Amino acid sequence: MKIEKDRVVRFHYTVAEAGQEPVESSKDRDPLVILVGHGNIIPGLEKALEGHEAGDNFGVDVAAADAYGERREGLSQRVPKKHFGEQRLAPGMQVVLNTNFGPRAVTIEKVGMSVVDVDLNHPMAGKDLHFDIEIVDVREAQPEEIEHGHVHGDGGHQH
Ligand code: ZN
Repeated sequence: MKIEKDRVVRFHYTVAEAGQEPVESSKDRDPLVILVGHGNIIPGLEKALEGHEAGDNFGVDVAAADAYGERREGLSQRVPKKHFGEQRLAPGMQVVLNTNFGPRAVTIEKVGMSVVDVDLNHPMAGKDLHFDIEIVDVREAQPEEIEHGHVHGDGGHQH
């Protein structure tokens, strides 16, 4: 069964910044499971999955614009230091900050006495990425999954 819109695909991935060592892989845990065609993963990767089937192994280059987007200027924000708890902070560090919009990965820019400047760009913004993909299996989605726009059950949404 080929991967196309409204099918559910399970796959392993390894991701690296173009030309560099991998930064993350699903190989040491469960594969990722997504409903195709509903924007649940970055657009460049979703497009690359289409037409493949279980057992396929392939590599794909995804430009920043089709991954986490280009870096945007002016996304710095000054945050009271107490929001970071007891963590020891240093410029360049990536930390997860609880915001009004939920947890968000930010990069520390500058640490002051009582405030911290952070960059709200996604840590992978502006980066061209390379993925190695291994398709585990493909199935038809349930009508309810299509209606909700995400996968239910094993590895998916639990309501
Ligand atoms: Zn649902």
